[in-house]
This record gives sequence, C-alpha cells and structure tokens, in this order.
Amino acid sequence: MENIAKEPRFFDIELLQGESLSHFLGHFRRENYLTATQLSKLTGLGAVIGRWEKCYFNPFPTQQELEPLAGIVEVQVDKLLEMLPPKGMTIKPRPIRLCGACYAESPYHRIEWQFKDVMKCVGEARRRHRHNLRLLTKCTNCETPFPIPADWVQGECPHCFLPFATMAKRQKRL
Ligand SMILES: [Zn+2]
Ligand SMILES: [Zn+2]
Repeated sequence: MENIAKEPRFFDIELLQGESLSHFLGHFRRENYLTATQLSKLTGLGAVIGRWEKCYFNPFPTQQELEPLAGIVEVQVDKLLEMLPPKGMTIKPRPIRLCGACYAESPYHRIEWQFKDVMKCVGEARRRHRHNLRLLTKCTNCETPFPIPADWVQGECPHCFLPFATMAKRQKRL
C-alpha cells in the first residue's frame, strides 16, 4: 500500500513533567526546523502561537485552539493542558522566572515558576525534595531579564552567557 495521503510527520519530543507550553513549543519547533510563523500556519492558530510562546495565557487556550496544535505535535490535549496553569491559578507572564537548581537537574522551564504569588521553588516537593530557593527573575551576574522559555536553547544568559545552572549558587534559601 502506498502512503499517498499520508500527513506530514514531525519528530516527537519527550514530554517533561511540569514543562511550560512556551518551552515545549520552542523545543518542538527547533527539533523540526519550524519558525513560529510556520507553526502558526500549520495549526491555523495565527498569532495565538506567538502569545503562548510569550507565556500569555489570558484568554485561556480553548479546546478549539488546542486540538489543531495537538494534531501537529501529536500530543493529547490533556497533556497540553498540563503545560498550562491549572484552572483558577493566575500566572504572571513577566518576569520570566527560573530555579537554577531545578534547571541543573533537568534543563527546562516549569510552568509553576510563573504562578502568581509563588516566589520560591516548591514543585520538587512532590517528587524528591524541595529546594526552597527563591526563584530568580534576572541573571545573577548582569541582571538581564530571562528570555521567553521558547527561546531557551543553550540555557544561559543571552547577554553574559552565565549558565542558568550556575546561577543556583546565588539563589537565596527561604
Ligand atoms: Zn528548584
Ligand atoms: Zn547575564
């Protein structure tokens, strides 16, 4: 049988616990050599993709928006919802926050770092331990704000190149 009508396939990427949608989208695009504009066209979501990459989830993504994205990235809508703030949780899109210690363990942006009123890293409590470290909002060396998670490639400050993992040394214990 010939695969005449086969849809274009993309490389799957590993799903990471608590990963933010912004980080996931950037990772998926780079793995598949797609620009944000191309992903916007493929999903028919237009500017919505760019908003999500910037961690703007207000208005909250709808089922109608998540379904076409789920089809392209081949991840169930339920899994995409786990990359978003839970219902009723307000998030703050700026500043982008970071726990350098979490990042050193596993290099990706967690959605819970953007929860409003959460100023320390507590997410690890559900797994092994908690860091109880104050989340960072800018580079500990040059004070440049962190880029949007979709643009986290090398895991370092875009200005002075200090690795995110190294910044853990300067995080205050709470
Ligand atoms: Zn942490
Ligand atoms: Zn820096």
